[in-house]
Amino acid sequence: MKRATVRECNVLGEQFRLVTLSGDALRGVKWLPGQKLQVALGSWAYRTFTPLSWDAEQGSTQLLLFLHGEAPASAWGRALQVGNSCTLFGPRDSLDLSALDRPALVFGDETSFGLAHSMRFTPKGAAGVRMLFEVTSKQTARGILDQLGVADVDLVERRPDDAHLNEVEQLAVDQLQTRSIQSWVLSGKASSIQRVSKRLRSLGVARGRIRTRAYWAPGKVGLD
Ligand SMILES: Cc1cc2nc3c(=O)[nH]c(=O)nc-3n(C[C@H](O)[C@H](O)[C@H](O)COP(=O)(O)OP(=O)(O)OC[C@H]3O[C@@H](n4cnc5c(N)ncnc54)[C@H](O)[C@@H]3O)c2cc1C
Repeated sequence: MKRATVRECNVLGEQFRLVTLSGDALRGVKWLPGQKLQVALGSWAYRTFTPLSWDAEQGSTQLLLFLHGEAPASAWGRALQVGNSCTLFGPRDSLDLSALDRPALVFGDETSFGLAHSMRFTPKGAAGVRMLFEVTSKQTARGILDQLGVADVDLVERRPDDAHLNEVEQLAVDQLQTRSIQSWVLSGKASSIQRVSKRLRSLGVARGRIRTRAYWAPGKVGLD
């Protein structure tokens, strides 16, 4: 358990907050890209996020919060102000990005942008890593990713009844065939991960080449 203070809270449009947390307890921490950090929201509720980066010397980390609705973490993110304090658990293991063979593909959604950013801190860096995200608004997502400096991205806008997942699957298959993707990281919405994973498996991609981590699912609270 660590205490931290909100040092910066950048409002990136309606639905995103880029938050810098700092404190003595964050100094000297061994963080690996892809790990998770849990934030206590009060009343024994906590929610999980993916640090974009961690400065163990200064004692600070950054989170990108996607405010999807009126749920507790969204309300917390909207109300956050510089100087607020919070309680953190972690960082702890979630997705191991350290030994990903390149070329690699990271699939996810708005909740995976932090994960995408953290790729640059892996031993092999972000070179050779393609990103594929399902998003509510391509224009908004592109703006956020540009600000974060996340490149090599394909975006697919959500459509009713997950009709857009056909396009997501097709883009994943194109990447497999044209770039010989060696490792896959599937994150974000549980059912989308299942769809993409099933398609890859049907094309002969070995289970050991696919890493999955569901970040949320409709109707589930604080999925972790
Ligand atoms: C390992 C891990 C890492 C994560 N990293 C990040 C991160 O870096 N940034 C980030 O923003 N989120 C991240 N998430 C996802 C985040 O923890 C969930 O979205 C969480 O549910 C948000 O809490 P909440 O209080 O807003 O909603 P909850 O109270 O948990 O959920 C209420 C309802 O909201 C809906 N819901 C939840 N999440 C979403 C969503 N993203 N889009 C649409 N509807 C949703 C579901 O129907 C759910 O039943 C991560 C999750 C995990 C497990």
